[in-house]
Amino acid sequence: MVDWDVVIVGAGPAGLSAGIYAARNRLKTLICEKSAPGGLANMTERIENFPGFPDGISGLELTSLMLKQAQQFGAVIETKEVTAISKNGEKILTETSTDKIQSLTAIVATGSVPRRIGVAGEERFAGKGVSYCATCDGPLFSGKSVAVIGGGDSAFQEAIFIARFAKKVKLIHRREKFRATALLQERVKNLRNVDLITNVTVEEITGEDQVTGVLVKDNVSGKRYLVEADGIFIYAGYSPVSDFLGREFKKTPEGFLIVDQNLQTSVEGVFAAGDVREKPLRQVVTAAADGALAAFSASNFIENHPARY
Ligand code: NAP
Repeated sequence: MVDWDVVIVGAGPAGLSAGIYAARNRLKTLICEKSAPGGLANMTERIENFPGFPDGISGLELTSLMLKQAQQFGAVIETKEVTAISKNGEKILTETSTDKIQSLTAIVATGSVPRRIGVAGEERFAGKGVSYCATCDGPLFSGKSVAVIGGGDSAFQEAIFIARFAKKVKLIHRREKFRATALLQERVKNLRNVDLITNVTVEEITGEDQVTGVLVKDNVSGKRYLVEADGIFIYAGYSPVSDFLGREFKKTPEGFLIVDQNLQTSVEGVFAAGDVREKPLRQVVTAAADGALAAFSASNFIENHPARY
C-alpha cells in the first residue's frame, strides 16, 4: 500500500500546474510546500507574458488562482519541508521534517533561489538594505536612491518597478551588453530616473550601520568609485533547489536536474518540473507547461506500476 499516487515537492507554478493535472486525472495527489504557495512568481509585481492576461496579472494573484484550481480538483497541500527522496523497492520514499511518505511517483518542482554575488557587505546587509525582492522591499525606498545589480530580465523588470518609488535608480552591470529582452531595455532607457552603469565589477556593499552604496571598479580604466545608494537590489540569476537530492539524481555542475523528454529524472518514477531542471527558458509559462507534462508522465508511469493499489 502507498499513501499517495504522486507527491509533488514545491507549490510554485510548476508544482501547482502538476497538481492540477494530476488531481484532475484522479491521482491521489499531495503537494508539499515548505513555506507559502506560489514560489518565486509571488515576488513578481506584474506578469505580462503569461498567455490569457493581456493587461498582465500580479504573480500572487496568478499563483493563488492556480492553488485554488489544484485544490478544487482534489490535490492536498501540506506545509512541510522535504529533506530527501529515494527509491524504496518499487515505491518512492519522501522524507520530510516531520514524517516519511510513500508514493508511486514524485515530481520535484522546488524551483530556484536568488544567487548571491559573494561580495563584502552582502551577507551583513541582507534584509537590512540589501534585497533580492523589489516587490517586497521596493516601496521602502520611496524618494531614495537605489542600486540594482544585474543585466538580465529580472534586473530590468525590477528596475522599472522600483523607478516608480525611488528618486533615482542606478542599474549596475558587469558587461557592456545586457541579457534583458529588447522591450525591457527600451522601457528602462526611456525612464529619466534610471542611470545605466556598465562594464564595472562590484567589489563591496558599503556602509556602517546602514547601506551607503556599492563600491565598483571600472573594467577598462581600473578606477574604483562609490555608487551611492540607500538600498541595493541584486538580480544575479538563480540557483536550483536540489541539494536535498542525492547522487543518484543526475545534475548539471550548477545543480539543475537532468531529465529525459518525459521529464523523468535519472531515478525511475521521479520527475522534475520548472526552474529546478535544466532548460533554456525559465518563465511562469514554461514552468506551468512542465508541471502538466510531468503529471502526464507520472500518470502514464502509474498505469504500468506493479505496486498500483
Ligand atoms: P539571468 O538572466 O541569469 O541574468 C543574471 C544577470 O546577473 C546577468 O546579467 C549576469 O551578468 C549578472 N550576474 C551574474 N552573476 C553576477 C555577479 N557575480 N556579479 C554581478 N553580476 C552578475 O537572471 P534573471 O534576470 O534573474 O533571469 C532568470 C530567468 O528568468 C531568465 O530566463 C529570464 O528570461 C527569466 N525572467 C523573465 C522575465 C520576463 O520575461 N519578464 C522576468 C524575470 C526573469 P552576465 O550577463 O555578464 O552573465
